[in-house]
Amino acid sequence: MSLRINAAFDGGNIRVVAIDGDQVDLEIVPDRDSDFFQWFYFRVAGARGRTLRFRILNAGQSAYPFGWPGYKVRASADRVHWPMIETRYDDGVLSFDWTAEGDLAWFAYFEPYPMERHASLVARIAQAPGVTHRELGQSLDGQAIDCLTIGTGPRPVWIYGRQHPGESMTEWWMEGALDWLIGPEAAPLLAKATVHVVPNMNPDGTRRGHLRTNAAGVNLNREWAAPSAERSPEVLCVLAAMDETGVDVAMDVHGDEAIPANFLAGFEGIPRWTDAHGAKFYEYGRRLAAHTPDFQTEKGYPRSAPGQANLTMSTNQLAERFGAVSMTIEMPFKDHDPNPDATYGWSGERSQRLGRSMLETLAQMIDEL
Ligand code: ZN
Repeated sequence: MSLRINAAFDGGNIRVVAIDGDQVDLEIVPDRDSDFFQWFYFRVAGARGRTLRFRILNAGQSAYPFGWPGYKVRASADRVHWPMIETRYDDGVLSFDWTAEGDLAWFAYFEPYPMERHASLVARIAQAPGVTHRELGQSLDGQAIDCLTIGTGPRPVWIYGRQHPGESMTEWWMEGALDWLIGPEAAPLLAKATVHVVPNMNPDGTRRGHLRTNAAGVNLNREWAAPSAERSPEVLCVLAAMDETGVDVAMDVHGDEAIPANFLAGFEGIPRWTDAHGAKFYEYGRRLAAHTPDFQTEKGYPRSAPGQANLTMSTNQLAERFGAVSMTIEMPFKDHDPNPDATYGWSGERSQRLGRSMLETLAQMIDEL
């Protein structure tokens, strides 16, 4: 049986360079009209009984090569369980071995969350009591930008994610957050707030197997100062809906290639910054760290200097535009080292749990934000 490598499916990304016996040489395909690449997701068929050596030859030219040291590929024979496998990174090449017990196996940068699962999530949550679904607009490929709204309270809360489609942990986080919002524990929060959730800002990039951009090669998290129908209709329609409600609290959900921990990024450096505004954000981080061992406040990005915030990024734009307590949650592709899992590393299930924990913390302190 000859080996077959295939990525022609929802969210797939790989290109075969050569197959020589049991050695498979591959390249990650850049996002369309862009230089970004790092996300990969492919299937191998005809592998039973063989030990294969995979090499991703262009890993060193990826968007974040510093993400590879300490990183481990996720592999699955059933597309349900995605344990980490031993992975090497030498001289710009990412390599890993696989001894196949069955005919088929899948490999990915992180546990995938494809558009088919997004459609099932939206359908299920939209049927829950009290939930309203709106299609806010369409992507460049014509896919829906879905928004789920729940709650009757006066405080507008916006939760949105997956601007960067290769950060698949973001939509696992969304699944955990949405399940919490339709459960009994959410009632006190939903009496005080109305929560709008856009679980996937970038369906085109997700389906195309992109790392960072939409169908036009545009990084949506650099479009929030002046979104346009031509480049970024995904942002244009969400920001228009936000302008109708205002935003008191905003959460933007992401993954980070390099840092092996969950962390928050805030809105330091916006023109209207005040220490009182920032203190609410810092207090949220402290409460979250006290609430779950899967969060910490030591590791993270450097803060912007006064006046230096990039207002094309959503978290800064929403803090400036609405006075929102606005935050970016970054989850690792590696693991949350303060509370590691040797088998799975950071995972979809743990991302779901962090989504719940972040809303529990929001519920505890909504009156203070
Ligand atoms: Zn991101």
